[in-house]
Amino acid sequence: MTVDAPLHFGDSADLERLRREVRVWLAGHPLPERLPDEPTPVFLHRWHRLLHSGGWVGLDVPREYGGRGLTSLHQVAVSDELGAGGAPGVPRIGYLAHALLEFASAEQRRRLLPRMLAGDDVWCQGFSEPGAGSDLAGLTTYAERGDDGSYTVRGQKLWTSYAQYSDYCLLLARTDRTAPPHSSITAFVLPLDRPGVTVRPLRAAGGDDEFCELFLDDVRLAREERIGAEGDGWALAMTTVSYERNALDTGHLSKYGLLVERLRRAARERRGQLPDGLLSEIGRCFVDYEVLVAHARRRIAERLAGQLAGPESSVDKLLMTRAEQRLYETALKVFPQEVHGPGGDVFAEYLYSRAASVYGGTSQIQRNIIAKRLLRLPHGAK
Ligand SMILES: Cc1cc2nc3c(=O)[nH]c(=O)nc-3n(C[C@H](O)[C@H](O)[C@H](O)COP(=O)(O)OP(=O)(O)OC[C@H]3O[C@@H](n4cnc5c(N)ncnc54)[C@H](O)[C@@H]3O)c2cc1C
Repeated sequence: MTVDAPLHFGDSADLERLRREVRVWLAGHPLPERLPDEPTPVFLHRWHRLLHSGGWVGLDVPREYGGRGLTSLHQVAVSDELGAGGAPGVPRIGYLAHALLEFASAEQRRRLLPRMLAGDDVWCQGFSEPGAGSDLAGLTTYAERGDDGSYTVRGQKLWTSYAQYSDYCLLLARTDRTAPPHSSITAFVLPLDRPGVTVRPLRAAGGDDEFCELFLDDVRLAREERIGAEGDGWALAMTTVSYERNALDTGHLSKYGLLVERLRRAARERRGQLPDGLLSEIGRCFVDYEVLVAHARRRIAERLAGQLAGPESSVDKLLMTRAEQRLYETALKVFPQEVHGPGGDVFAEYLYSRAASVYGGTSQIQRNIIAKRLLRLPHGAK
């Protein structure tokens, strides 16, 4: 059984060299000490900058936009090694970067992407609203175009992760009240220090102030702050969430692998002490993990063949959710001493795993997408 750095994919000598370079770099750059009371995103931002200085962020982004002009496979190999080394992964900006790569103008890409990759600008995602989470197309934040082509935005966003630590928000707003919902949404880059923006953090169960409410009161946005054409926002949103739901966040996969291995070792060392039911659970965790790795390999192959992320990401999202939730539930039973968090790593991860069936679109919504877009099932009787 191999669980560390699981995504070797017929790696070429070039990729093996890259993996070695990451391991050597990691050995020389241990995770920085977390300062007392330092919020997680601030700590992770310092790590982001360090990773970028090592050349480990944006490997698959073209050089002219601040990346290294390599392939997804190179980025995957780096994330894989970071996770296997027990380090936090590359910051989760890949899906926002992909949205900009596909929809922003060349000028916007040149201006925004290098700073995003370097961590000079921190970004958040302003899609969900109080009445529009699963039904994202029902969002009501409105951007009204003036005679000079600029926009005035009014509305409210909700669940905007880490907006209080961010410089920019990738914002969705409606720009036409009469057109059908899917063709009247437009994307913008919203600088969060713009007059009229109020960010109010909300405390989550794990103790972090992850979520925020974002109030937009007559916020002025220039025409150049629009991403793509008016009405392109829905396609941009679907691209963003397809990347967000993809199993290629392999830093996570190798991290899961380390925990599966830890469970396996505990079961062997405590032979005869763990009930059969718990041993079966560990077996299921291993199966979930292997299935995820196989899916991630398949997605790499598709991406290398030039296929963009699409609705099949919903399958990955369901598999990841099941794997992550079962893994941390099982870990808490096998290592009960780590239940008595907050503070214990497993406990914190367990709490966060509960959100996996909600963020990036709920499990019910992923099943709807699979039924409609992959299986093309007819609507059932009401
Ligand atoms: C940790 C975390 C981080 C997040 N970060 C961000 C962020 O940075 N930016 C952002 O924009 N959003 C973010 N979100 C919001 C997330 O995308 C929404 O919570 C999610 O889409 C669900 O929307 P909702 O909370 O409004 O629930 P609702 O849409 O109100 O759903 C409530 C329940 O009804 C079910 N339901 C709704 N419609 C259907 C249907 N048609 N068929 C079957 N069941 C249905 C849902 O599955 C759910 O169980 C985050 C959420 C979490 C948990």
